[in-house]
Amino acid sequence: MTLAEISERCHNITSSYLANSNGSAIVEATKEAIQITRQQFLQEVFTRWDPFGDRLSFSYNGGKDCQVLLILYLSCMWEYFVTNIRSSQYSSQYHQFPLQFLPTVYINQAETFGTLENSIESTRIRYFLSVYESPRNQTSMPEAFRNYLDVNSNTEAIIIGIRHTDPFGADLTCIQETDSGWPRFMRVQPLLHWKLANVWSLLLYSNEEICGLYEKGFTSIGGINSTVPNPSLSMKLELGHSTLKNEFEWEIMHAYGKKEASDEVCVSKLSASDERLLQNKGHLDYYPGWYMIDDSLERAGRSRS
Ligand code: ATP
Repeated sequence: MTLAEISERCHNITSSYLANSNGSAIVEATKEAIQITRQQFLQEVFTRWDPFGDRLSFSYNGGKDCQVLLILYLSCMWEYFVTNIRSSQYSSQYHQFPLQFLPTVYINQAETFGTLENSIESTRIRYFLSVYESPRNQTSMPEAFRNYLDVNSNTEAIIIGIRHTDPFGADLTCIQETDSGWPRFMRVQPLLHWKLANVWSLLLYSNEEICGLYEKGFTSIGGINSTVPNPSLSMKLELGHSTLKNEFEWEIMHAYGKKEASDEVCVSKLSASDERLLQNKGHLDYYPGWYMIDDSLERAGRSRS
């Protein structure tokens, strides 16, 4: 695989999703969400910052939101590349995908789950991410970004997978400057309008490997000392489970590239230390994270945002 090939694959995933006629309310809403993000990338972001230059970076921490945004970003990069070829006077054989690695920033803030670390590493390889990893617990988030910009001084804008339903996300816009107290760069936020159900729908359909903690009842992943499986997904909890069901059976059964329908979800393996941790804490019997589509409960397993 190359970055060009995985970008083309991501484009095929989103095109295939957009072409499906499943007709469910979640799928239709997700198609709309994809089209908005696509327009934002192609018409607002790439017209200001060439995705093949060095002024745009991607912020990545292995979570579901940045992974779904990464798939959309690569998909749009492929579309941008192909569109440019079509408008060029030279035949397509003279065009090469201009990028081999994607500039990416990962701020290693807190003690993380081994499973998440492993997942970041395998996605780094799969998506050809050139990851700048800040030293763990080095400083505050703004300071860590300042350090990133010191070594990547051409960066003007950073793509972030924040959504309106995240803490402090309600009033954000797609492109805006950082707040005071932060180093100056433009925040690019094309996932703001996505609801939790949209994220799960495209991610599960993509058949791309997702972090294994999500299968164990996690719905949002922070530090190892501040995140547990989402309490409302506990199998021991009697209350409310009449409403808990897998809304994504179709996405899983018909996931992109599956030769025949199956209910298997592509998740990364739990690390041995996380398996022990979940066992020791009695955190074993939880429904998968995608059984939760209530945005207001998404972070119920996190004691710090
Ligand atoms: P989840 O909520 O399931 O953990 P997520 O990590 O993608 O998914 P958030 O925690 O809400 O979502 O973070 C929003 C976005 O902010 C991420 O998608 C990513 O772009 C950026 N981000 C958050 N933490 C970091 C970090 N430590 N390093 C780099 N980027 C980060």
